[in-house]
Amino acid sequence: EIQLARRVKALTPSSTLAITAKAKELKAEGYDVIGLGAGEPDFNTPQHIIQAAVQSMNDGHTKYTPSAGLPALKKEIANKFAKDQGIKYDLNEIIVTNGAKHALYTLFQVLLDEGDEVIIPTPYWVSYPEQVKLAGGNPIYVEGKENNQFKITPEQLSSVISEKTKAMIINSPSNPTGMLYTAEELKAIGEICIAHGVLIISDEIYEKLVYGEHKHVSIAELSPQLKEQTIIINGVSKSHSMTGWRIGYAAGNKAIIQAMTNLASHSTSNPTTTAQYGSIAAYAGSQDMLNDMRDAFEQRLNTIFDKITAIPGFTCVKPQGAFYLFPNVSKACEITGYSDVDAFSQALLEEAMVAVIPGSGFGAPNNIRLSYATSLDLLEKAVERIHQFVESKR
Ligand code: PLP
Repeated sequence: EIQLARRVKALTPSSTLAITAKAKELKAEGYDVIGLGAGEPDFNTPQHIIQAAVQSMNDGHTKYTPSAGLPALKKEIANKFAKDQGIKYDLNEIIVTNGAKHALYTLFQVLLDEGDEVIIPTPYWVSYPEQVKLAGGNPIYVEGKENNQFKITPEQLSSVISEKTKAMIINSPSNPTGMLYTAEELKAIGEICIAHGVLIISDEIYEKLVYGEHKHVSIAELSPQLKEQTIIINGVSKSHSMTGWRIGYAAGNKAIIQAMTNLASHSTSNPTTTAQYGSIAAYAGSQDMLNDMRDAFEQRLNTIFDKITAIPGFTCVKPQGAFYLFPNVSKACEITGYSDVDAFSQALLEEAMVAVIPGSGFGAPNNIRLSYATSLDLLEKAVERIHQFVESKR
């Protein structure tokens, strides 16, 4: 029998993928399943981006690029930071990676020694803890309380900082909660991080998906010291509907970016050349379609939010960004007789044919995550099914 390495034996497979697989299985058997598990926009990649990628191949750009990415793409990314955040990065402060996920993976690999701690607010994106552990680090969880919009307070942060704290993660807008930190909240958190020399990892992948009067603020734009203290993670996956292209990036401290580049030179060599050319067009071209996609998400959110909260036993903090709803369904479990949210979610899939992701994988066992990255028709049908399901069991 093959003995696998200890570090992968401890890996928990992604809960998101497990439910998605089960939903696919039911679909293949002919069941009319509605999947609300998706973590990707349902829009096509804009045509001009596809054309630029095709053109680059026809022009012969099908070879290796520098490990940190094409200078032309890094220039576009630097322009984006200047325009959107008002901050200036030199090209050697930016690395292009195979998706934001791999930017984070590489960052933890170059940052953490055995036993180093990374503070992760809950609810969290499923990959943070696993990536920290893969690098030998220890995730330290801080509960973003539901009555504080799932956000952590400066006091909570202070109370878990230790000698071993290397970094903390901020994900605003958040997957799975859709919540945003305000400039004031970020300032208070940032001051603590500066005082204790804690690196801030700011995952801003949902930056462009923000609704109503809410505004995305990057902690790095609040002061020059905070810029020094922060590594920004971002990418084109969610903003430009380019999840399959696998282009993300990290920006910040030159020495960290250089270390990540060295590691990339031995692991990925470079992000896919064609995808980099597409991404140049994504940033160089018109950004109008970003607003169209954003508007569509907002309309869906506003259409189904009241319907979700009308389901008996469902309460929900209204999301301010991203494309997820994260209702608390512990009361609904009680009235329907399910022992926990995992069992409730499984029954929802098998009996009501609606796939949602149980919150346990995000460190929030009372909630479920519903993605509204699907058509309004299907969303309304799905919410109706969930409502019926709960009614039928009370
Ligand atoms: N960060 C968060 C919070 C995400 O939700 C995701 C994707 O689901 C990523 C990072 C990774 O994005 P990418 O497709 O660029 O790897």
